[in-house]
Amino acid sequence: MSKINLLSSKIYNRISAGEVVDRPYSVVKELVENSIDAGATSINIDIENGGISSIVITDNGSGIEKSELKKAILPHATSKISSLKDLDNICSLGFRGEALASIASVSKLKIESKTENQNIGAFILVEGGEIIDSSDCGCSVGTTVTVKTLFYNTPAREKFLRSSRSEESDISSTVARFILGNPNIAFKYTADGKTIYQSFGDGLESAMVNVYGPDVISDCFFIDTQKNGFTIKGYLGKHHFTKGNRSHQTVFINGRYVVNQTISSAISNAYSSYLMKHRYPFYVLNVSMPTSTVDINVHPNKLEVRFSNNQIVYGTIYSVVSKVLDGISEALNIVTPPVQKEPFFKQEKSNIPNEKPYNFTSQTPSFSSFLFSDIKPQPQQDNSQELDIFAENKAYIEKIEKERQQTKETQEQLIIATEQNLKFIGQALNTFLILEDGQDLYLVDQHAAHERLLFDKLISLTNNKKFASQPLLIPFVLNVNNEEFDFINQNIF
Ligand code: ADP
Ligand code: MG
Repeated sequence: MSKINLLSSKIYNRISAGEVVDRPYSVVKELVENSIDAGATSINIDIENGGISSIVITDNGSGIEKSELKKAILPHATSKISSLKDLDNICSLGFRGEALASIASVSKLKIESKTENQNIGAFILVEGGEIIDSSDCGCSVGTTVTVKTLFYNTPAREKFLRSSRSEESDISSTVARFILGNPNIAFKYTADGKTIYQSFGDGLESAMVNVYGPDVISDCFFIDTQKNGFTIKGYLGKHHFTKGNRSHQTVFINGRYVVNQTISSAISNAYSSYLMKHRYPFYVLNVSMPTSTVDINVHPNKLEVRFSNNQIVYGTIYSVVSKVLDGISEALNIVTPPVQKEPFFKQEKSNIPNEKPYNFTSQTPSFSSFLFSDIKPQPQQDNSQELDIFAENKAYIEKIEKERQQTKETQEQLIIATEQNLKFIGQALNTFLILEDGQDLYLVDQHAAHERLLFDKLISLTNNKKFASQPLLIPFVLNVNNEEFDFINQNIF
């Protein structure tokens, strides 16, 4: 066995950097957390090339004293805790004193900062953990941290970076969470010079609209309640407002974004009787609880937490969410009715008489019913030409829909009858098909079966890139969040 060496801090930092900063988004996360801890009310985030070439975070927080700048990049250097007992009562997002040291060791880092007490600011320039330059500089109160060429000296890590588009997308999701979790801080986030998010620090509703678009407010219950010493505040998707994956589920504990099984299963179970298979609830919840009842010192990235009593957390969240969803009278104390606002899609000028603003929901009516339901002939107006056109189109689309419907109904009966050797017995409540197969009796929800057949067909057409498409007669505005925008962009044909 060879000799045991004590590693120098330079090597040690580079190894441990992997625990804290493994990707550009984790650098953004750590730096923004520092800005929040410094009491900033305004934070700018600018990235280039998915954060790989450059990440610049500017805040108007308390700043770092000139004499402290060199200390800030040392491992285990923190102003947030000073003794062991502080660990039981952490109120800041950071406390390990690892982030700046880690980032400094795997990038070219510049910190410019000024506190209120200083007349002039100061900067420090660090490359691969070594201080290259430091001096006075002109800047306003607060801190700007610039991270260039991330992982330039750790080729192994650099190799595992994904495309700059994917890295940018993860940074965007991270920033979106900061906006939702810190609705009183104004964020501006640009990627390659393009503004992706800009929030104004004017409350949760505004933050939600910023991230998810204007319709989200009417699609959600706003809750603000207290139970068992917890404060639970945020938005729960209404019964119809479900999603195809879990990426629209956000939980903060005392302002910190966390991924926690206890809370997510409490919410999922409360929703379970309202959800179709493979549909997931939408929620943004901030749960505040005494800091002594939650341990955040579980994992280096502080994404996981541990509760002193899981059952109380589970029970509290489950009962609050259930009451809201079940519409139990007690929910009146929890749910706050949304403020009625001008519909977003209201058009100033329209050729279509009586046109209504339209919100896209899971209960979207058929294309033709949406298009024509509000059109009444108004001969006095000089748009009679359009109405003729519309009447013709209406008749044509209705004919096609009717034909399609008839074909599908016949096909479904055939498929169900032939695929499983089932004997059709009858229909109940205009909804269920009753079938038998030997000793087994089947009740088939024909509406759900129909949807499933259509779904399978669409999926197979999509997989084979064979679906037909045509432009809509009238443009339809679909609001998407940044993640969905990226997804559509990557999959558009
Ligand atoms: P931690 O956040 O765990 O304390 P970091 O390495 O992230 O560790 O930061 C080290 C210290 O540098 C912080 O404790 C804080 O005192 C100071 N610091 C870092 N970023 C900022 C900032 N944006 N504004 C003010 N102080 C900061
Ligand atoms: Mg920190």
